[in-house]
Amino acid sequence: MSLIAQKNPLDVMHEECGVFGIYNHAEASRLAYLGLQQLQHRGQESAGIVSSDGKKFFAHVSMGLVSEVFKKEVLDRLVGRLAVGHVRYATAGASSVTNAQPIVVATARGPIAIGHNGNLTNAQSLRKKLEAEGSIFQTSSDTEVILHLIAKSSAKTMAGAIKDALLQVVGAYSLVLLTPTTLYAIRDPWGVRPLHLGRLNGSHVVASETCAFDIIEARFVREVKPGEIVAINADGAKTVGQLPSEARAHCVFEFVYFARPDSQIFGHSVYQARKALGRRLAQESPVKADIVVAVPDSATCAALGFSEASGIPIEMGLIRSHYKGRTFIEPKQSIRDFGARMKYAAVGEALKGRRIVLVDDSIVRGTTSRKIVRMLRKMGAREIHMRISSPPIMGPCFYGIDTPEARELIATRMSVKRIQEYLNVDSLSYLSLEGMLSAAGGAPSSYCTACFNTRYPIPVQDGARRR
Ligand code: AMP
Repeated sequence: MSLIAQKNPLDVMHEECGVFGIYNHAEASRLAYLGLQQLQHRGQESAGIVSSDGKKFFAHVSMGLVSEVFKKEVLDRLVGRLAVGHVRYATAGASSVTNAQPIVVATARGPIAIGHNGNLTNAQSLRKKLEAEGSIFQTSSDTEVILHLIAKSSAKTMAGAIKDALLQVVGAYSLVLLTPTTLYAIRDPWGVRPLHLGRLNGSHVVASETCAFDIIEARFVREVKPGEIVAINADGAKTVGQLPSEARAHCVFEFVYFARPDSQIFGHSVYQARKALGRRLAQESPVKADIVVAVPDSATCAALGFSEASGIPIEMGLIRSHYKGRTFIEPKQSIRDFGARMKYAAVGEALKGRRIVLVDDSIVRGTTSRKIVRMLRKMGAREIHMRISSPPIMGPCFYGIDTPEARELIATRMSVKRIQEYLNVDSLSYLSLEGMLSAAGGAPSSYCTACFNTRYPIPVQDGARRR
């Protein structure tokens, strides 16, 4: 299917991603592979690595998990001391290798490879303008717009061309960009998505999350600053450009759900922030119960915090299966809640006759929660009190996290009381916005909370702001 032919490419471009880069290592592509594996939670649909031997690129990009996409023979081909990598998740429809990254293009300045985490909010109008001027696009990805703008820039240096291009785009972007001899790490002026710099002996590394450094024993050095363009080459790692950057809009949902607990992002530990969300939730919405149960894995840390603050012991009442594979075959005789059962199993011994505080990080459509509650009740849970470690989700994300349109979000259609009835729980409480921000740490004004209060800090153009 030609994605380019789709009417509104932005409709299918909401994606979650992770990026990785390495400069000056004999096994650059192998370390990129390991780094990407640690970032797998940020995107499970496609993976790619582009390496450079100083003169030319070697690329492999395909649909699938990192471990499926890269075999030893493939990595053997990706020679050179420089590499960038990307993992991507896209909503249905855009799930195509055409849009997988890193994207490689040939320009008058030489080849460029780019990997992008985030989402541009004016990509469609820029694309229309570029197409009117004769540009030919190969993907429906917003990222390609950046490459066209770089290619068209008349700036003398690559750093100048990158800056030229980025001054025209609006939205969220944490980028790794590779030329044959230089690795660039770039972050949008609001710092929506995380991006970090690290060192490994004589090598430099770049990653969305610091957990990608730990696996290769690299040392976390610092965040790429909002609006900063860092070039890493024979001269070392240097800031070669700074975009005007006033306000911050760090995605608070990274703390709630997205990032891995062993990472540091936005200057804070995800583990500690997530536990603090749970503690705060217990203070705001206490309940008499026998045990705390987390919806694994994303709510585990919040549940630990809830248990700590409430003194209610935590039990493993739900287990998550990590082995369901990418496809599964449902028996002909249909099984109720089959999808949820493939993912979660309820532990009867922990649940039977108990009053349960069920902690989850968020409710999106409400469908999973409803099925989980049904499973817990079937296993003999006496009462179920649901506690959510973030406020109700009221709007889609236009900055790089895949959330459905507003009308598909349960909280836009139902009151909390109504959701409680729909989920069939004995009580339901969400964490307050203030509570979430104070648990996240740092200045409340430094966070983007648009999915919770529909205050979009970065202009959403192109009619992409869906209701
Ligand atoms: P739902 O059934 O739609 O309410 O799903 C809620 C579950 O989805 C929660 O357990 C969250 O951990 C998880 N979740 C939250 N945001 C996302 C997202 N952007 N992509 C995938 N899962 C998510």
